[in-house]
Amino acid sequence: MQFALPADLDSWQQRVRQFVREELQPHDATIEASGEVPEAAMAGLRRMGLFGTNTPTAYGGLGLSMLGSCLAIEEIAKAHTAFYYLSGVNVHIGSKPIEFEGSEALKRRWLPELASGRTIGAFALTEADAGSDAARLKTEARRDGPGHYVLNGSKIYITNAPEAGLFTVFATADPSLGARGVSAFVVEAGTPGLKIGRTIEMSAGRGSSHAEVILEDCRVPATNLLGGEGKGFEIAMRCLDAGRTHWGAYCVGAAQQLLDLAVARASSRETFGRRLREHQGIEWMLADMAAAVHGARLVAYEAAWRYDHGTPGERTRAAAMSKLIGADMVQRVADATLQIFGGAGYSKDLPIERIWRETRVVRILDGTSEMMRRIVARDLFREADRRNAPL
Ligand SMILES: Cc1cc2nc3c(=O)[nH]c(=O)nc-3n(C[C@H](O)[C@H](O)[C@H](O)COP(=O)(O)OP(=O)(O)OC[C@H]3O[C@@H](n4cnc5c(N)ncnc54)[C@H](O)[C@@H]3O)c2cc1C
Repeated sequence: MQFALPADLDSWQQRVRQFVREELQPHDATIEASGEVPEAAMAGLRRMGLFGTNTPTAYGGLGLSMLGSCLAIEEIAKAHTAFYYLSGVNVHIGSKPIEFEGSEALKRRWLPELASGRTIGAFALTEADAGSDAARLKTEARRDGPGHYVLNGSKIYITNAPEAGLFTVFATADPSLGARGVSAFVVEAGTPGLKIGRTIEMSAGRGSSHAEVILEDCRVPATNLLGGEGKGFEIAMRCLDAGRTHWGAYCVGAAQQLLDLAVARASSRETFGRRLREHQGIEWMLADMAAAVHGARLVAYEAAWRYDHGTPGERTRAAAMSKLIGADMVQRVADATLQIFGGAGYSKDLPIERIWRETRVVRILDGTSEMMRRIVARDLFREADRRNAPL
């Protein structure tokens, strides 16, 4: 077993780290105040290829392994979360539906656009009455002659919807069929009948948006159907494996950033005649944080490796575990960091409370922590049943 990163990936991570420090982090406070992501930062993300880290080179991406992609995400997570929503999310749920199941024509038309960041992709699965239980979705896909489908329904919380040039919309031929009835369609922004509804203000994530997507007699060519009728749910879950693997790495990067800030604060602030870090209570907090980050990092890298080398089942379970462990870990690290900073940590003068709010969502989106436990438990039971183990 090899624990050091290969030299090429190590130097890639150093390069992204430097880019984040010099070209992204300086904009953090402005984004939080104004809700605007500066064009210079977007241009930097594009120049670095961060909209297409894991997209094959044949379609304009960097063609990195999932581990290479996760190493970049880990660094991006050290800056304002808007950067990750725009670039990282584009790599997984924005591009993967076409990468996995698009026709050659769709891949050639859209993947280079997405990988370059010229077009942002959105993934429209969730509905007001279908979140965790996504197979209950009601958006309807009706066949309209041999060459078209007509979509009707509405989606909610769709990341980047107002900025997106392209949507993957999940819709059903018949809600009573559950997951088997769901199909996935590529819908270009501006297609008549596709409208962006209300933007939902979230607890955190200024500079990024999450909105309703409304489909009213939206007619899409049958060539935009991904993978065939009834394949949509499977496609969604496969894309979410990539998303969850990235989110695991995101949590590690955000937590590392917090830990570094906490160590710096504990090294400079004095109470009762000595530095904070010389009080055992604080020393132990920092040690627990470092151990938790290290554990989650190993799990995140393993999930990335399984994404590239494992069976579909291994990939799904490892991604779910990584997101579950990372989401919990980063919240504990954020809370401990805020505590170490005291009043300053809770104030908006420093980025701690922002990161604390930003990272809370990982327990909810791309599948809640309860759904991650469900995936892991079901895999566990399948394994036990295969072994026919006595209970
Ligand atoms: C910032 C943000 C961005 C998002 N971006 C997107 C996007 O781009 N595209 C998209 O399609 N969706 C997106 N979502 C939606 C997100 O995926 C859903 O919010 C999530 O899947 C949970 O669904 P829900 O909110 O309907 O909660 P519900 O499904 O109503 O669940 C409510 C609570 O009950 C728990 N629960 C549900 N069922 C069970 C069970 N069987 N056992 C135990 N507990 C259970 C859940 O874990 C949760 O805690 C986004 C959400 C947010 C907040």
